[in-house]
Amino acid sequence: MKVHVDPARCQGHGRCYDLAPQFFASDDEGYGSERNGGVIPDGQEHEAQVAAMNCPEMAIDVEQ
Ligand code: SF4
Repeated sequence: MKVHVDPARCQGHGRCYDLAPQFFASDDEGYGSERNGGVIPDGQEHEAQVAAMNCPEMAIDVEQ
C-alpha cells in the first residue's frame, strides 16, 4: 500500500502526523507529507488508513 499527500489540498491540520508519525511528517509550516516515499509496510495498513480517513481535507490519497 502507498499513501501520498496532495500538497494542493493539505491545509496543515496535522492529524496525519499526529495519528501516524511513522508514516507522515510535517514541514516547518505544519503541512504534511508522506515518509519513505509513501510506502506502508505490510501489516501496518490500518494505521495509515486511519490517518487518511481523519484528514479533514481528504488530502491523503491511498493506493492499494
Ligand atoms: S491531516 Fe491532511 S490537511 Fe492535515 S497535515 Fe495531514 S494531509 Fe495535511
